[in-house]
Amino acid sequence: MVNKKREMLIPQYMHKFKCIGSSCEDSCCIGWRVQIDKNTYKQYRKCKNKELQGMLGEKVKRNRSSSSKYDYAEIKMNNGNSCPFLTQDKLCKIHSNLGEEYLSITCTQYPRIFNAVNGVLEKCATMSCPEIARLALLNPEVMQFDYIEPDISRKNAFNDKIDTNQSSTENKIEKYFWNLRIFTIEVLQNRDYELWERLIILGMFYEKLSAYIKEENMDETLNLIENYRNNIKNGIFHEYLKEIPSYKNIQMVILKELTNERILKGIENRRYLECFLEFMQGMGYTGKATNEELVKKYEKAYTKYYEPYMKEHEYILENYLVNYVFKNLFPVREREEVFDNYVMLVMHYAMIKMHLIGISAFHKEKFCDEHIVKLIQSFAKTVEHNNIFLEYMYDLLKKDELATMAYMSILIKN
Ligand code: SF4
Repeated sequence: MVNKKREMLIPQYMHKFKCIGSSCEDSCCIGWRVQIDKNTYKQYRKCKNKELQGMLGEKVKRNRSSSSKYDYAEIKMNNGNSCPFLTQDKLCKIHSNLGEEYLSITCTQYPRIFNAVNGVLEKCATMSCPEIARLALLNPEVMQFDYIEPDISRKNAFNDKIDTNQSSTENKIEKYFWNLRIFTIEVLQNRDYELWERLIILGMFYEKLSAYIKEENMDETLNLIENYRNNIKNGIFHEYLKEIPSYKNIQMVILKELTNERILKGIENRRYLECFLEFMQGMGYTGKATNEELVKKYEKAYTKYYEPYMKEHEYILENYLVNYVFKNLFPVREREEVFDNYVMLVMHYAMIKMHLIGISAFHKEKFCDEHIVKLIQSFAKTVEHNNIFLEYMYDLLKKDELATMAYMSILIKN
């Protein structure tokens, strides 16, 4: 997985990334809350630039509810949720008039995400940037990682840190973070199995690991990894995976929840709403359609348009999942329990897949990479900007006791 050289670990797509600025189809200066760190705020207060001085005073406001130096102030967005410093040509006035050193950490860093693992810096990026989504997702080869020399001249803020050598991790699953991370990526990139099979194998693994953690038997982790490695290699799981039934009607219940007003009302991203409309039209989704009619359309869309295309392009979703695992320090961050982190991973996968099935029915034979990238990018922007979306789905699963392996298999397998 890794070509080890120096001190910062990055996925190889980061080598090629360069912001495409005014050619970007979804500027990062629209639809976010832009935080301003303390140092940048002070620079703005001292700024004497004639064109920007007044505007910086008026549009950059102290955030007194936060004690974080990274969230010291914020930019007051225009109506339409766009940054007031964005020109009509989608260029940043602060960058062009004052230079890069006047950009806040948030603006300098986006779409990069920095973590630190055992003192080693890691850099990757969010799929909410269309250029990153293209570079990371559309590579048919397995995602690879390199160690490089870090660029210390840039302003960086850490998203998360983890140190598995500290005594505080002694009785915690964090102790096995690297083993679990490598195993997870190895399974996700094992093309001897279809992607849905890889996800179910991972689910069985994390369900078992959760049981060990509850029994305070965490020391079995390395044995469990080895057993799974052997069973995967020897094809032991194939028979079992064949027996797993596919329940599209239950996937439809989730789809119906997607159309819930409470979720949709907080969403402003134009590109996501366009995808959502295509999905609704593709599914023939009107208030009047019965469940049976929807299930039939869903099945037809899957077999006629989605499956034939994705069979040849499964690496797109594989790349998405590998990036998710790397970026989110899976499986030890986000939620406390490893299996809950697995549930969140599956929720992302299942929601993307279900959207794409509807979108494929909308575009029919013209369904292609461009539609997949647009959905994944705008979905990432939507869920990263609005936790209501995934929290709502997660609470729903928890409330109805559906955060189980049996139910995850139903969401994964078509
Ligand atoms: S979303 Fe990405 S490519 Fe587009 S303007 Fe922002 S950083 Fe550049």
